[in-house]
Amino acid sequence: MARTSDIEKAAEVLRAGGLVALPTETVYGLGADAEDPAAVARIFQVKGRPPSHPLIVHIGGAEHLDDWVQDVPATARLLAEHFWPGPLTLVLRRGHRVPLEATGGLETVAVRVPDHPVALALLSSFGGGVTAPSANRFGSVSPTTADHVRTELGDAVDFVLDGGPCEVGVESTIVDATGKIPSILRPGGVTREDLEAVLGYPIAVPSTSRVRVPGQHPSHYAPRARVVLVEPEKVVAEAELAQELGHQVGVFLPPFLADAPVKAHAVLAVPASTAAYARELYGFLRELDERGCDLIVASLPAEEGLGLAIANRLRRAAGPRPTV
Ligand code: AMP
Ligand code: MG
Repeated sequence: MARTSDIEKAAEVLRAGGLVALPTETVYGLGADAEDPAAVARIFQVKGRPPSHPLIVHIGGAEHLDDWVQDVPATARLLAEHFWPGPLTLVLRRGHRVPLEATGGLETVAVRVPDHPVALALLSSFGGGVTAPSANRFGSVSPTTADHVRTELGDAVDFVLDGGPCEVGVESTIVDATGKIPSILRPGGVTREDLEAVLGYPIAVPSTSRVRVPGQHPSHYAPRARVVLVEPEKVVAEAELAQELGHQVGVFLPPFLADAPVKAHAVLAVPASTAAYARELYGFLRELDERGCDLIVASLPAEEGLGLAIANRLRRAAGPRPTV
């Protein structure tokens, strides 16, 4: 776990234009000083992320919001007040302190206050905003432990702050809050139901077949193994068939089949609670890669509560891969 001296060292690295991997409650981020275009450019280089894909600016508290954005609608303030610190990202009009490098050239910027003591301590010690995408290579599975970051990025990061495993395990919910009526651009750690309870009206969620947010490709959050999604009742039969055909099959066994025997290379039991499933999801995908699976058979959870975010990530893990 990070100590005070680690946090001070990490803040120093940020001030010097370096990259710090930091724990948040969602996933580990690859952070840079949001106001340093050269440092921000290094994030894209290390991740192999196209520069048109905007990043999230992390700030230390809702009271700093107006330093980074302008024209904040009342609904955005309401959401910030309710959900920050927490896994909710608000897209608002870009303030002058945010360089276009951090927004992929957009006049809007994504902002959030992470709910993690180490991230908050770093933001407080550093004093500015930290722009950070997930600390993984572009398109691959997001890291939920400091070890995942070290394994994937190694020396490309100047400093890794260890804050233990991430509590939420999937990325933040991104809400377009530029207008009077907000809409969900990406489902995540704050559920649609929680947002609707605060707003008092239904809120739009993107259809899964269309790419709405810049930087969201059909294939993302993807392990090396190919991911195949089937009906929950067919998981075992599909997995055993593929194994018989010579694949090394990894299985996400749905909770209602817990302990069912499956003739496959590796079997992971999906937790019955969606909070536990979200927390384990990326670790599961990484584990099946590590165990040498070339095919993963899974099914989608019900798309309510955190199940909406889990289903979104699984669909994109199963999405068509780039051919290059
Ligand atoms: P990551 O941290 O890797 O999950 O990436 C940040 C996410 O925030 C990406 O999905 C971006 O598309 C999204 N994002 C960041 N800024 C904006 C913005 N101004 N408008 C819409 N989406 C954004
Ligand atoms: Mg990411």
